[in-house]
Amino acid sequence: MAKDLAKIAAERGIKYFMISYTDLFGSQRAKLVPASAIAGMQKNGAGFAGFATWLDLSPADPDMFALPDPDTLIQLPWKPEVGWLASDIWMDGKPVEQGPRNVLKRVVSAAADAGFEMKSGVECEFFLTNADGTAIADSADTASKPCYDAAALMRRYDVITEICDAMLALGWEAYQNDHEDANGQFEMNWSYDKALVTADRHVFFKFMAKSIAEKHGLRATFMPKPFLGLTGSGCHAHVSLWKGKTNLFEDSKGELGVAKLGYHFIGGVISHADALCALLNPSVNSYKRINAPRTTSGATWAPNTVTYSGNNRTHMVRIPEPGRFEMRLADGAANPYLLQAGILAAGMDGIAHKTNPGKRLDINMYTDGHLVKDAKRLPLNMLDALRAFEGSTILKAALGASFVASYTKMKHAEWNDYAAYLSDWERHATLDC
Ligand SMILES: [Mg+2]
Repeated sequence: MAKDLAKIAAERGIKYFMISYTDLFGSQRAKLVPASAIAGMQKNGAGFAGFATWLDLSPADPDMFALPDPDTLIQLPWKPEVGWLASDIWMDGKPVEQGPRNVLKRVVSAAADAGFEMKSGVECEFFLTNADGTAIADSADTASKPCYDAAALMRRYDVITEICDAMLALGWEAYQNDHEDANGQFEMNWSYDKALVTADRHVFFKFMAKSIAEKHGLRATFMPKPFLGLTGSGCHAHVSLWKGKTNLFEDSKGELGVAKLGYHFIGGVISHADALCALLNPSVNSYKRINAPRTTSGATWAPNTVTYSGNNRTHMVRIPEPGRFEMRLADGAANPYLLQAGILAAGMDGIAHKTNPGKRLDINMYTDGHLVKDAKRLPLNMLDALRAFEGSTILKAALGASFVASYTKMKHAEWNDYAAYLSDWERHATLDC
């Protein structure tokens, strides 16, 4: 018997439940449901008009239901009378194929059938800006190398510790917080877990950081490149693959302590990298972070090429220590579910085909990248990434053809919307043609 949410509400003083789901563009949608109505909602779900959110549904479609997962219950640390729940979306008695949480669950279940469980941790970078998002909030935060700046970190003590205290209370094993490489940029870390748990927490973390920042008169943004010239916000994922309590990537005899299986997984990630960009770098703005020129701090910390290395942050994949690798491609705009689903699907394909990741490169890719003649480049824009994604029969099969069709349809519409925008640059460059 699943947890009885009505009973839990009475025990813990929960007055309202926030039944939430994440749409294809990563937006979190929710209904506030009084505790008196939660028993029915737990059984049947909360009704939504799916067309009203980014899901590629039509106004003629029947009601969509968000069925809450009671295991995800979190009392909002800044408003404990509200219980937050992640949900799976259903329609006509079936899971909606393109629902991002449904997509991840499908990929996780296929991996489980093959005997694998992916665990991952995400490193969410974000900026604290003024309320309208036009400038960083701290006018004294102007150092040209601001990473780990102690004073700038302490000037945001109230916000950062409120978020960190919340994570500690929730049992996420939060373990460090820092000022990152751009002025106004921060990162907060909590422990890794199963892919679905991490994705749910990632969704909640973004919601929490934004909510708590707002309480303090600020704005938290995960936009990949909000300020040109400053380092963008990545969302690095640390990945390992398990069978029960055994980390299958760990092998003391393997190169850098990583087993052959791990290299096959990395091979899959590398071979599908251009297509994966559609999920891991899903916004027009994402491509100003990857492939970016040098920033004022001296490096972008984002990859330009599809390469891997040991403990070297200038490549797309870094192996920092035995037993795991870090995928440095994703950015703050990535949908938490699709980020995990994409990496796992690509890695599983690498394992199935024993994909060779190619040669490890131990060079500084930012300064010596031009010496590597055959390094595959990342897509230069969202349109190229979408086309690569649409052309990937393997990812289509793993993630679901109808999900890929819905996702790319909505993203093409977004691209067309962007392309129709007449920019100042365009006028400036073309007026006197
Ligand atoms: Mg970082």
